[in-house]
Amino acid sequence: MANGTMRRTVGKALGALLFAAAVLPAQAPPSPAPAPALEVTVPSFTNKSCPVMGKPISSRLFTDTAYGRIWICCKGCNKKIAQDEAAAWKSAYPVVKALDNKLCPVSGKPIEGEPTLLSLQGYELRLHSPECVAAARAESQVVLAKLLQPNVTEVGNVNCPVTGTPVAKNTFCLIGEQLVRLSSIDCVDAVKKEPRAMLEKAQADARAAAASKGQ
Ligand SMILES: [Zn+2]
Ligand SMILES: [Zn+2]
Repeated sequence: MANGTMRRTVGKALGALLFAAAVLPAQAPPSPAPAPALEVTVPSFTNKSCPVMGKPISSRLFTDTAYGRIWICCKGCNKKIAQDEAAAWKSAYPVVKALDNKLCPVSGKPIEGEPTLLSLQGYELRLHSPECVAAARAESQVVLAKLLQPNVTEVGNVNCPVTGTPVAKNTFCLIGEQLVRLSSIDCVDAVKKEPRAMLEKAQADARAAAASKGQ
């Protein structure tokens, strides 16, 4: 009676529900959440004060020496540094922090046996072979960014997403954790205005470069 009717009714309703679930088209996918804002940063591993004048450095003024990059306070200090790069390097980076990296940041090879130690902009890093010293110095900023921020990945663009001209060595910004190379550090301001578009441009450039390499 009442009980039985109820059970039947419930059973029917349940059946209808299951039927509906089976034939209804899959729910439309939820509209994508708005992409999080991409932060644009330029990690820099700088000396604190100009080795020539002792004044605070300017973040955009530097000179590339045989040992790596030295930031300076004014353009005039370039000349003084060129006269004795070794002395300038020592006074620019008086403290060196040892890094215990297991992979060579230049070749990506594991470090076996005696590593080659290289003092680079306040860090002592390990290379798998003396052959990697010159490349590590030439790309000091990139090498340190990758060593100290392990999530950083290189996009691999060969042209600057801002100017469209070839990228300069050792010159880049991070868009999120993607390392995008630039033709000049002055391009960072333009990247900050539209980071996502710039990242996509760099990624497209990297794909084109990889495709032409493969041919
Ligand atoms: Zn100076
Ligand atoms: Zn190496």
